[in-house]
Amino acid sequence: MMEQPEKMYDLIGVGVGPFNLSLAALLDDIDTIEPLFFEQNDKFDWHPGMLIEGTKMQVPFIADLVTMADPTSQYSFLNYISKNDRMYQFYFLQRLDIPRREYNDYCQWVAHQLDSCKFGRRVSNIRHVKENEEYYEVAVNNLKTGEQEVYRSRNLVLGTGSVPVLPKSFQNLPSEDVFHTSEFLANQERCRKARSITVVGSGQSAAETFRELLKEQRDCGFRLDWITRSPGFESMEESKLSLEHFSPDYVNYFYQLPQDQKDEIFAEQGLYYKGISNHTINDIYNLLYEFSVGQEELDVGIRVLSEVKGIREKANGGYELDCLHWQKNEEFTHETDVVIAATGYKPYVPDFIHQLEDFLQWDKHGRYKVSSDYRMLLNKNTENEIYVHSGISHTHGVGSTNLGLSVHRNKVIINHLAGREVYSLDDNGIFQSFTGNV
Ligand SMILES: Cc1cc2nc3c(=O)[nH]c(=O)nc-3n(C[C@H](O)[C@H](O)[C@H](O)COP(=O)(O)OP(=O)(O)OC[C@H]3O[C@@H](n4cnc5c(N)ncnc54)[C@H](O)[C@@H]3O)c2cc1C
Repeated sequence: MMEQPEKMYDLIGVGVGPFNLSLAALLDDIDTIEPLFFEQNDKFDWHPGMLIEGTKMQVPFIADLVTMADPTSQYSFLNYISKNDRMYQFYFLQRLDIPRREYNDYCQWVAHQLDSCKFGRRVSNIRHVKENEEYYEVAVNNLKTGEQEVYRSRNLVLGTGSVPVLPKSFQNLPSEDVFHTSEFLANQERCRKARSITVVGSGQSAAETFRELLKEQRDCGFRLDWITRSPGFESMEESKLSLEHFSPDYVNYFYQLPQDQKDEIFAEQGLYYKGISNHTINDIYNLLYEFSVGQEELDVGIRVLSEVKGIREKANGGYELDCLHWQKNEEFTHETDVVIAATGYKPYVPDFIHQLEDFLQWDKHGRYKVSSDYRMLLNKNTENEIYVHSGISHTHGVGSTNLGLSVHRNKVIINHLAGREVYSLDDNGIFQSFTGNV
C-alpha cells in the first residue's frame, strides 16, 4: 500500500467523464483549489462503442467543457479547433452539431493537458476520517502497477456516470453474439460476417446502430431486424421551446417541487431524452426508400409492440428469441445470429457510496438526497462535502445527464467550493417561465 499521508487535496474526483473533466478544466485556472481526479480507464474515452461514423452531438459545440462558464478559456472547443489548425475547415463546415468522434478527440486533447486527471486508477473505497483535521481518505487501485494507493482530500466529487443495462434474459450468452450497443463498434466485424442481426430497443442508440447496419446490409448480405416493445419509433422532443427544459431555470423550478411530484413529472419526460432524433429517423427512412427501388422485398424487418421475453441458443448455431406482441397477446419466435441490445443505461453508484449508508441521507426509495447546489446531504455535521454529478435525475430532473447543463453545475460547485462567487450564476435568460411568473 502506497500512502501519501502528507498531502491534503481540496477536492478528489471519482471518474473522468465529460462532467468531471469540465470541472477539472475550469479548476485549472483557480490557484487556490488543488484537485485530483481519478479515472479507471487508461485514457479518456467517451462512449467508444458508439463513436459510429456520421453520428453527431445532440448539443451544440457551445456546450463544450468550459465555454458556458468562460468563453475565453484555453480549453474551449474553438481553441482546440484553432490549435489543430482546422479553423477554416470548421468555418466552412457551418455546423453547431459536431461529430461525436470530434467531441471525444476534443475531450482527449483537454485531458492530456490536465495534470490533475490521473488515468488507470480506480477508486475502491472512501472513508470519512476525524483526527486533528477532518477529511476523506480515498483508496485507489493503480491498475498499471497493481498497487493500492491512499489519498486525502477535504472534499469529494462523484462523476461516475452511467453503465449499460443488459436485461437478465440477454446475459450469460456468448458476448460476441449477444451484446449491448455500447459494445457495437468492437463487434462490428463480427456483424459483417453474420447471416442475420436483430437490434432490440427503440432509442437513439438503437436507431444509430440500425442505420449503420442498414448501410452495410446489402454489401455484407445479412438479414436485418429491428424489434421494439414500444408502440412506435418515437421522435425525441427537439423543438426549441422544449429544449428550454435543459436550462438552469427549469432545474431550479424542478428542484423545489415535492419529491413525489418530481418522480411523476420525470416519468413523463422520457421523450426529452429517450426518443430518436428526427434526423436519424429521416436517414433511416431515406435509406429504406432508396434500397427498395426496384426490389420486390427488402431483407429487413421492423416490428413494434413486440417484447423480447427470452433468448435461447439453438443447437445448430444462432438464437431463438421468444417474443410477445403485447397488444394482441400473441407469442412468436424470431431467429437470428446476432442480438444487439439497445436497452439503455442506468446511473452508476459505486458500492463504496452504499457503504457510507449511515453518513449520507437517503430518500424512501433508497436514493441519496442532494442539496440544490449539488452536495450530498450528510448526517454528520462536517465541512467536508461530497459534490455529485451522477444519479441526480430524481432531485434535479431531466437535464441532469445533459452535457449542456454540466458547465452550469460546475459553476455552482466551484462557487461553493471556493466560498465566493468565482462565476456569476445570473444566466437564466430563457424565454418561457416555468414558475408561472413573468
Ligand atoms: C452513446 C451516448 C451518446 C450521448 N450523447 C449525448 C449528447 O450528444 N449530448 C448530451 O447532452 N448527452 C449525451 N449523452 C448523455 C451522457 O450523460 C453524457 O454523454 C456523459 O457521458 C455523461 O458524463 P459523465 O461524466 O457523467 O459520465 P461518463 O461519461 O459515464 O463517465 C464516468 C466515468 O467514471 C469512471 N468511473 C466510474 N467509477 C469509477 C471509479 N470507482 N474509479 C474511477 N473511475 C470511475 C468511468 O470509467 C467513466 O469513464 C450520451 C450518452 C450516450 C450513452
